[in-house]
Amino acid sequence: MKTIHGVSASKGIAIGKLSLNKQTLEKVLRHPVTDINAEVNRLIAARTATERTLRGLHQKALRELGEEDSLIFQIHLMLLEDHDYFDSIKDSIVQNKVNAEYAVWMVSNRFYLLFSQMENEYMRARGDDILDISQHLLRYLNPAFAIRLERLSGRGIIAAADLLPSEAVRVDRKRTLAFVTRDGSQYSHAAILLRTMGIPYVVGLGEGFDELIHAECVIVDGSRGDVILDPDPAALHEYEERERKYQEHQKALRELKGCPAITKDGYRIDVHANIGHAEDVDLALENDADGIGLFRTEFLYLGSNANSTEDGQFEAYRKVLQQMKGKRVIIRTLDVGEEPGTSQWRYRDYENPILGIRAIRSSLQSRGVFMTQLRAILRASIYGKVAIMFPVITSEQEILDAKRMVRQAREELEAEGVPVAERIELGAMIETPASVIISDLLARHVDFFSIGTNDLTQYTLAMDRNNPAIAPYYNLHHPAVMRMIRIAVENAKKNGIWTSICGESASDPQLTQFYLSLGVDELSVAPSAVLEIRRAVRKTTLAAVQEETLHKFCGEDGQNL
Ligand code: PEP
Ligand code: MG
Repeated sequence: MKTIHGVSASKGIAIGKLSLNKQTLEKVLRHPVTDINAEVNRLIAARTATERTLRGLHQKALRELGEEDSLIFQIHLMLLEDHDYFDSIKDSIVQNKVNAEYAVWMVSNRFYLLFSQMENEYMRARGDDILDISQHLLRYLNPAFAIRLERLSGRGIIAAADLLPSEAVRVDRKRTLAFVTRDGSQYSHAAILLRTMGIPYVVGLGEGFDELIHAECVIVDGSRGDVILDPDPAALHEYEERERKYQEHQKALRELKGCPAITKDGYRIDVHANIGHAEDVDLALENDADGIGLFRTEFLYLGSNANSTEDGQFEAYRKVLQQMKGKRVIIRTLDVGEEPGTSQWRYRDYENPILGIRAIRSSLQSRGVFMTQLRAILRASIYGKVAIMFPVITSEQEILDAKRMVRQAREELEAEGVPVAERIELGAMIETPASVIISDLLARHVDFFSIGTNDLTQYTLAMDRNNPAIAPYYNLHHPAVMRMIRIAVENAKKNGIWTSICGESASDPQLTQFYLSLGVDELSVAPSAVLEIRRAVRKTTLAAVQEETLHKFCGEDGQNL
């Protein structure tokens, strides 16, 4: 048993097996070999090691799970011993004079295809088993293969070097127990997505990640950011107990459904949910969110191209608005870099992509794409209470241009006889220092501010939110960020507009009193955090803590934070 420490990116506990998938096998490179015998011997050694592992697993499963559940390892052993499979790998080495890894890959793929196309369901499932055995063989042939665990649609706990939003979006939430990655950051969009789905996630395992190679069973403690390899019975017991307590706590939170987020002295705030897909609205409703405070629409583009058409988007927005039954839904216009039409997340393609053509800049350059989105939102607006907000604002001009586009979309639709809601609130996202400093000017043009603390923190502190090396310094409580938020909220109040906090720090219960003290109107958090924040609000007596809290978080209490 060994514990590797990483960083918590999504809470919860999962206990299970690590998986590797076909994509990993696709990355195996072909090398010519001259010493064929040595290569065949490497393969035989890998088979012996795999056999040993499978026998061990079979015995363990038999003891702990019973005969039925241990059967799978017997099947794996039979497949490993199958001459067709093993001899094909050997023949491939001999005939093609290639490395054993490549031969395993070629043959596995062939067998996988063969099985997966069979009519019989039982036989189809054997395709996955072939991949599983190949994973073992590759792992013993070359430990480097075990670190490229990129199974995104598999079952169990998935380990990968890193996770992109475009990959996270494809995660099968029903079959995936947890994620662990060598790199990654808790503020990345991939982490945000997994939090929304409620899948435990530990990032930044660093060099410790290599140790996963040898683990068969792991515990992922998403709350502490730990990964426990091959836990002993005491650890298993401890975690089962913690899981039980976690579930108990969740049950207590569920009792708060239907209760308002109101402080003991009567200050009321709305707790809304952040979503990235139309389907996430179910999670928002399950957690009794007061509305949707941030609908991240870029994931519509990452999922399937059909979703990014005007009709595809209209359907997604309509669905969310109808399900929210008149509760406000704030749709954020597209926040990606260039070429939003492609299914790729483009931030990484430039040296300084987060400082490039991103968000509103991109929308105002790609006006066709922007207009498509605005038309879809406006068409859906009659199905509920929609608001629109524009991301990464830095100037008044951007707001004025965006508003002009909204007007144009409305005029076009009205000319076509398409109904549009009479009044749609428009907001600016406050997530750059520039927008904070001119928030007095911006407030004159919009109905609300929504403060994106993820970007506001990265731009204020000049620290990349996706860089795991920055994690120890990336302080969401930094007084500079707290003061930025205070300035924006004060300017909003002076201009009579309302404010929401929709960055990840809205779901930090340690900051709830600070936001209440500022007089923020809405907090928008991952669906799974709605009830936790509601609880934090209900525990507070605002008048008793207000002044002190403001000074403390803004670094004005003489204490060094
Ligand atoms: C933010 O920056 O805080 C925010 C809510 O937007 P995103 O995380 O999608 O960049
Ligand atoms: Mg942002």
